[in-house]
Amino acid sequence: MSVAQTQTIRQALKTLLLSQDRSLRELSQLLSRPEKEILVHLEHLAKHPGPGYRFVLIPARCRRCGFVFSQRVRVTAPSRCPRCRQTDLARPRYALELQQGRTPKKQDADAP
Ligand SMILES: [Zn+2]
Repeated sequence: MSVAQTQTIRQALKTLLLSQDRSLRELSQLLSRPEKEILVHLEHLAKHPGPGYRFVLIPARCRRCGFVFSQRVRVTAPSRCPRCRQTDLARPRYALELQQGRTPKKQDADAP
């Protein structure tokens, strides 16, 4: 995949995440890209959201007992609840927020 394509997808991803929070599956469908590839971009965005932006990770949650995976730093989804051992988990969601009091000068000012 070319650098230009990577930039385009990352920009589209940013736009989607700025409008509302999304799950990995939603992003994969909206951008017509495999989840694996979206994850790479999400992990990059989590570390380098760009000046004026903040990456928001809404943690996975167990639908059975309500356990929240707040300790989890990585963006990948857990597979099983450590408390009740169920696999019925609400998957993590992702969003981008504008930091208050700062206006981004350039949309793609983050490092390549
Ligand atoms: Zn649970």
